[in-house]
Amino acid sequence: MVPVIDPAAGEPFAEVHMAGADECTAAVDAAAGAADAWAATSPRFRADILRRAYEAMTDQHEPLARLITRENGKALPDARAEVTYAAEFFRWFAEEAVRIQGEFRTAPAGDKRIIVTQHPVGPSLLVTPWNFPAAMATRKWAPALAAGCTTILKPASETPLTALAIAEILVAAGLPPGVVNVVPASPAGPRVSGMLHDTRIKNLSFTGSTEVGVALLHEAADQVVRTSMELGGNAPFVVLEDADIDDAVQGALVAKLRNGGAACTAANRFYVHAAVAMEFTEKLTFAMNGLRLGPGLHDGVDIGALVSVAERDKVAALVDKASSSGARITTGGKIPDGAGAFYPPTVLADLDPTNDLLANEIFGPVAPIVTFESVDDAVRLANDTPYGLISYVYGQAFQDAFAVADRIESGMVAINRGTVSDPAAPFGGMKESGIGREGGFAGIHEFLESKYIAASI
Ligand code: NAP
Repeated sequence: MVPVIDPAAGEPFAEVHMAGADECTAAVDAAAGAADAWAATSPRFRADILRRAYEAMTDQHEPLARLITRENGKALPDARAEVTYAAEFFRWFAEEAVRIQGEFRTAPAGDKRIIVTQHPVGPSLLVTPWNFPAAMATRKWAPALAAGCTTILKPASETPLTALAIAEILVAAGLPPGVVNVVPASPAGPRVSGMLHDTRIKNLSFTGSTEVGVALLHEAADQVVRTSMELGGNAPFVVLEDADIDDAVQGALVAKLRNGGAACTAANRFYVHAAVAMEFTEKLTFAMNGLRLGPGLHDGVDIGALVSVAERDKVAALVDKASSSGARITTGGKIPDGAGAFYPPTVLADLDPTNDLLANEIFGPVAPIVTFESVDDAVRLANDTPYGLISYVYGQAFQDAFAVADRIESGMVAINRGTVSDPAAPFGGMKESGIGREGGFAGIHEFLESKYIAASI
């Protein structure tokens, strides 16, 4: 058994059994054993189960949100928003399950018909991180189940309880045995590796750091296992000269502080035109300074704890290093006294564009600001990273903001808003931020493969 820590108190509040190698093999046995029967169910049958799961998650919204806050530390409003977002994947893919399309056409030469059918790829291994313990699970479960794949989900060791609770919802919604299996497993490396090298696993869907994603891509290559990868980010937030600064500050708060900054989509580098940099910095500082830091379950708290003291210390070390290399702290920047993995909302101004902080995914409530003079410089700086998950652009002339969005190398761009996430839209990154898309029309295709039948008819 391994303790689950409440990061706001710094104390364990539950224990979870960690699966050993034999239990991981048993999970693969179950997923492989149920695969054919599940693939043969009708799309409507699968859709109805997903719809019931959506309704059950909605009914259990508050207890699920509280559970997320307890094991992850995020403030309750963030956890509530996560439950809503997570449940929506069940609803969206309930609707997609019955709309899987094929093709039927005449070949250009006229010698045959081209028929393309879609098939579930097979038992799928799903590996999820701690920062969105509900949404990262449902973003994989929902399309996998809609497509007709059985699953084994390995949640992050810090946050196993939310995935276990949602698995119970899926079972209660009518899933047959063996279709959903959850294996909290530590150490993760050998357990995931063992399952990935089992020839019965046909697909790996991973969300987590680029470092682990790269290692898993190498492993998946051994047996040419299909993969989709949602990896790290380093999102630029570009404020053009004509931006409405009050709007940009509101958007910055959303883009920066969702989940206390521990989000792959978190704005990580603020590039602000020199003409408006002082106003933006002052207003962002004022707004960040007014937020309430504290235990996520307490009323009125805006920013909860980070997931662990180790994560908090990483954030603090990044800020200390940036400040010793010239960044000016305008608010925050100091670990508060007392227990819990807390770090205050922090603004760093006057960063040199080469400051090392800008190359790191901060994963905390820290906003570093760099000024730019020309739009070309802003685009060059925004693209100066191996990552390419999401970017934010603020500017009142839509064509100028759109031109920047068009030139930025990222899988998603938000114009004049602080969020993009929507189960109905394709989520995913370019460059080292990933391969594949979740949600939208694309998400279900990560769990389907096509078969082309050439027919002389
Ligand atoms: P992580 O360390 O890569 O862990 C993610 C998952 O992989 C966890 O379940 C972890 O298990 C497991 N894992 C760790 N080492 C492994 C290995 N050697 N082999 C197989 N599995 C392994 O990431 P994290 O710290 O939990 O999450 C933060 C990262 O996720 C950030 O980089 C963030 O940007 C990224 N993220 C990306 C997206 C996206 O959609 N692009 C969304 C959310 C988060 P243990 O917990 O047991 O170590």
